[in-house]
Amino acid sequence: MNQMNIADFHLTLQVMDNIDAGVVILDRSYTVLAWNTFMQAYSGINSDCILGHNLFDVVPDLPKEWLKNKIASTFKLRMRSFSSWEDRTHVFNFQNFSPISGGTSLMFQNMTLTPLKSLSGEYTHICMTITDVSDIAKSKTHLRESNEQLTHLSMTDRLTQLYNRGHWEGCLQEEFERCRQFQQPATLVMFDIDHFKKVNDTYGHIAGDGVIRTVASLLRRTKRQSDIAGRYGGEEFGVILPNTTAEMGLYFTERLRKRVEKSYVSVDVRSINVTISLGVSEWNPTMRNHEAWMESADNALYQSKQRGRNQSVIAEIISNTNEFAASS
Ligand code: GH3
Ligand code: MG
Ligand code: MG
Repeated sequence: MNQMNIADFHLTLQVMDNIDAGVVILDRSYTVLAWNTFMQAYSGINSDCILGHNLFDVVPDLPKEWLKNKIASTFKLRMRSFSSWEDRTHVFNFQNFSPISGGTSLMFQNMTLTPLKSLSGEYTHICMTITDVSDIAKSKTHLRESNEQLTHLSMTDRLTQLYNRGHWEGCLQEEFERCRQFQQPATLVMFDIDHFKKVNDTYGHIAGDGVIRTVASLLRRTKRQSDIAGRYGGEEFGVILPNTTAEMGLYFTERLRKRVEKSYVSVDVRSINVTISLGVSEWNPTMRNHEAWMESADNALYQSKQRGRNQSVIAEIISNTNEFAASS
């Protein structure tokens, strides 16, 4: 090596040691030939202890099989290969000081493997670089969580945590299409709290909210997992019962109705008792769209109110005219 080459080499070494990434050079038998300052700082392993040694002997907690395969294919394909934190959070088990948590946390890493040619032109070594992508990983994870939260908020009713009207109606539309396509039964239930205005007038709006929340929680506990419940309006709820006939749906509505009838909501020293009226409508092929289905359930609910409240009414199809009546 002439004087110029030594000077170049000296500069290169300084760059390698000051670069904000881990640099490791390995030969084909995983002997370490370079281990820069970054690697020393985060691993706690001084270069004296690793240079000339087998990487996997000195760093036993590496994903050995995976990394060996990756190195083998880099040599075979004579091309750079890459590992992203999104597929594998880290290669080296490094800890990082985190300004957010104020403590240490796992360092998320990207890794590249570059095949290196010796002077004879053969690929004899691998250069492994490790970059700390913890900040990117954290902000991306945070963004994903925020998006999930926003999606949840956009479909959820705040008071009851049931689906809100918009999302629930979307579900009804999907169920309607499914029924039409597969000709399977499904039943829609619309129900409404009886004389709710009186509850608000007597006990106040906040107590009224408590009643709505209690009814929603009874509904959640009474329905099956696959049933889709939403708060349609103020004190009106909708439930989609897939694979259920109207007669089967009636078991559900009566169980719910009786539970509500027996429940009490405590307000200060008083307790409030309410009842509900329910309309039940099974999908049938004469219905043009999901709105027609809802109209049918609404008609049955109206009948239930007319007949004295605190009861379930099944909607009936008047064939030929495509209109709906209701019968108990
Ligand atoms: P009916 O038996 O015929 O259903 O009588 P009702 O008094 O329940 O009927 P109506 O639909 O006229 O009254 C509903 C009342 O519900 C009117 C409205 O002030 C109240 N309301 C709507 N949304 C809320 C809410 O989020 N919280 C509370 N506390 N009250 C609400
Ligand atoms: Mg009401
Ligand atoms: Mg109402």
